[in-house]
Amino acid sequence: VPSVHLLGVLGFPVGHSRSPAMMRAAFAELGLDDWRYFKLPVPPERFAETVRALPGSGYRGANVTIPHKVAAHDLADERSDAAEAIGAANTLVFEGGKVVADNTDAPGLIDSLPRSPQGQTALVLGAGGAGRAAVWALREAGADVAVWNRTADKARELADEMGVRHGLAPAEIVVNATSVGLTEGTLPLEGLEPAIVVDLVYAAEPTAVERWGAEHGAEVVRGLEILVRQGARSLERWTGRTAPVDAMRAAAV
Ligand code: NAP
Repeated sequence: VPSVHLLGVLGFPVGHSRSPAMMRAAFAELGLDDWRYFKLPVPPERFAETVRALPGSGYRGANVTIPHKVAAHDLADERSDAAEAIGAANTLVFEGGKVVADNTDAPGLIDSLPRSPQGQTALVLGAGGAGRAAVWALREAGADVAVWNRTADKARELADEMGVRHGLAPAEIVVNATSVGLTEGTLPLEGLEPAIVVDLVYAAEPTAVERWGAEHGAEVVRGLEILVRQGARSLERWTGRTAPVDAMRAAAV
């Protein structure tokens, strides 16, 4: 009997997730016929016990999305440097009887940029979960990072913790890590003249931040691309194979 390797995405709700389509396209492209990927809707009060039960049911790992990313970090037996520093995990690996937490949102953001941010100035808008990952990722990649947040105290605290600047200042790379675009609201973009605009919010149509970037002549990185790149990193972590990024992108839209 061939053994089947199971993976899934843990969230609540998780019905909207593009990850199953993206991962199944990758398995097909790579000829990984014995790998499967499922939606795993799990409420917060059942999260820890569910994760503990997955390895015994043939699961090799899982993606983790809203609202479980911090809980995934907390319950892990081991953590990557990224998961540890960000305080949240989007990827779990079950190996050697242990639950290992990783965060591929951070390298996924760097992978999606048109060139290395090394030595560039970067402004991250937002100090929530996505903002934390973006600040850490850009700092690790050698950018000179500042963070702004609507609630200014949160930006100051994050800047102190990560050893970056806080406040609003023009930068070569501007990253929207707020939920504006998904929710109502406006951002203080006036006067920023970035060469690269990154919007973590993903939508089928271009978001307001993406349109603003394009109108100002910036190279625009869409939220969907970051979704693809974090998924590619997770797939590589589980399977040890090089992710077929083009096939994954085609399946994600
Ligand atoms: P979160 O922890 O709830 O943080 C929300 C952030 O948005 C906070 O900084 C908040 O500021 C800010 N915000 C909300 N409404 C605002 C408004 N009207 N004006 C200005 N700022 C506002 O959420 P998150 O987990 O960081 O996620 C943020 C976004 O990133 C979501 O849209 C999520 O889907 C996206 N995301 C995308 C990817 C990807 O792969 N593409 C990965 C991760 C996250 P306050 O502190 O002032 O409330």
